[in-house]
Amino acid sequence: MPPTLCFRNCGQRAVLKRPKTGDALCKECFFSAFEDEVHNTIIQGNLFKSGQLAAIAASGGKDSTVLAYVLKLLNDRHNYGLNLVLLSIDEGISGYRDDSLDTVKQNREDYGIPLKILSYESLYGWSMDAIVKQIGRRNNCTFCGVFRRQALDRGAALLKADVVVTGHNADDIAETVLMNVLRGDIARLQRCTAITTAGEGSIPRCKPLKYTYEKEIVMYAYFKRLHYFSTECIYAPNAYRGHARAFLKDLERIRPSAIMDILHSGERLAVREGVRLPARGVCERCNFVSSQPLCKACTLLEGLNRGLPRLGLAKSSKAEQMLETKKRIITAPDF
Ligand code: SF4
Repeated sequence: MPPTLCFRNCGQRAVLKRPKTGDALCKECFFSAFEDEVHNTIIQGNLFKSGQLAAIAASGGKDSTVLAYVLKLLNDRHNYGLNLVLLSIDEGISGYRDDSLDTVKQNREDYGIPLKILSYESLYGWSMDAIVKQIGRRNNCTFCGVFRRQALDRGAALLKADVVVTGHNADDIAETVLMNVLRGDIARLQRCTAITTAGEGSIPRCKPLKYTYEKEIVMYAYFKRLHYFSTECIYAPNAYRGHARAFLKDLERIRPSAIMDILHSGERLAVREGVRLPARGVCERCNFVSSQPLCKACTLLEGLNRGLPRLGLAKSSKAEQMLETKKRIITAPDF
């Protein structure tokens, strides 16, 4: 059988079939299709301004490794005029994050981008290992996700960054749309597909890989021989997101465009006029964005510090009850 030639008529042999379009491409044409798409996303989404300091949220995984590599390449190729810095959050998960941070340190050397690492331990006084010891392995990802979002904002503020850049890809966003539908979380559903969001502090966040399929990120990293860390977090199996991911992968097998279809559906959803959404204010303790007097991160931390780890997981009325009971126990006379 004659070899399949590259769909772009460059005369080379095709070495892969793009999961996103089904096109058979040679390596070089795949690289250029991939990079041009990310560049178009950046330009059409008006993600950066010349002279900005962009903090790349770097975990050492495939998404942030490819993001750092491609952003540096496009910044040089198209003269975006960005200053880049890697920002890593060390959640304190032994046997996982310590190893993945070694990969980020390697990225720093390979791409010549400076690196800043901030730990949960230094910011909150708790590592994820200590949190899991307290709360078990059911809601650990709630603590981890809430703390990480805020930690990134705090790190970006320390670095005086103008924008935080994350490696969220099309699969991640489609999963988030599904999760928000399943939870009936209209407020999050409304903003989860935005390419630039306000962040929880004052520094915006953007997602240049928003329209990039996860499978193509893996292929790009593989053919470019990029070093990334691929072991799953030891606390991951219980994450709710894992179920949405498994469902999405099943859909993708039957219909590869399902990822983009869900993402586009999420983009087109609009909340009917008159529907009440939680008002966004600022946390009275840390000044980060919050719809409650105390933001989620401060509430979770308060619970951990008071020995009531479930405090931040409960509805506000239940949380008040828990605090009241705890107060009664502490103030009860010791007979
Ligand atoms: Fe944190 Fe959960 Fe992700 Fe592990 S799987 S890094 S605990 S959010």
